[in-house]
Amino acid sequence: MNIIKTKTEIAKYVSEKREQKYSIGFVPTMGALHLGHASLIAFGLKRHHYIVVSIFVNPTQFNNAIDLEKYPRTLEQDTSFLSKYGDKVVIYAPTPQEVYGNQVMSKQYNFKGIETVMEGTHRPGHFDGVGTVLNHLFRQVNPDEAFFGEKDYQQLLIVKKLVEIEKLPLKITGCPIHRQENGLAMSSRNARLTAQQLEEAAFIYKILQQVKKDFDSKSAQALREWVAIQFENNPHLELEYFEISNIKNLRPLSRKRTHQKYRAFIAAFAGDIRLIDNMAIN
Ligand code: AMP
Repeated sequence: MNIIKTKTEIAKYVSEKREQKYSIGFVPTMGALHLGHASLIAFGLKRHHYIVVSIFVNPTQFNNAIDLEKYPRTLEQDTSFLSKYGDKVVIYAPTPQEVYGNQVMSKQYNFKGIETVMEGTHRPGHFDGVGTVLNHLFRQVNPDEAFFGEKDYQQLLIVKKLVEIEKLPLKITGCPIHRQENGLAMSSRNARLTAQQLEEAAFIYKILQQVKKDFDSKSAQALREWVAIQFENNPHLELEYFEISNIKNLRPLSRKRTHQKYRAFIAAFAGDIRLIDNMAIN
């Protein structure tokens, strides 16, 4: 398995492939790879000859030092997870200095309001960190197309805006959420859940499904109140936010409009582990 650690080498790898008329897809990750990541790689391999998977736990997108410290780092396991792809997949696993140079810090972006709701409210600075690292990684890897999960739907919209702002020559494509059998969205953070918590956390998916079912018959406010009560009655999960938002600008729904599409979003804690999920509801 080819692990590239420097920006010089990744640039050389990609330009050689391109000279040979091959196209390059890119799947940025923070490692602790799971089947959700694999679904992005599979999506990418349908369209491109080679996929670069970056594995980089980005310090500037963590607003909580303990979360950063506890984030799983499993490069050896990740390498064997990717070995089945042979030379179709290459790992880019740089150090913070390699990505950022000497100043590991965020640039400040204006993402036109997408950054001020939900994850933006609850994780101050998070999207500046995401935007900054991806701006660096996109320039270092220089792919034709990059793939992002709808699991982090707000992030997907931020990345599309970033590419516009930075005028980067690549396409951004969103891919469906990959779930466990019980409905829980796969996530690297799930590795920290106990077997019991893994079962209990499927509650988040069940709530989203019910919201989707009731969307036509109930108002947004009634749905918000219903969700709040469900979580109050659940001793295992603590709701951080629930929102129903327009899929394009993420403005919270007040009055339903025909022809507008909405998604429901949840962030909740199982102990000290923060989980997010969302679902298209109409
Ligand atoms: P992460 O390593 O958590 O930063 O995620 C890297 C990429 O994988 C992001 O684009 C995520 O949205 C995506 N991803 C993570 N979990 C899933 C999932 N369960 N289904 C689909 N994509 C996912």
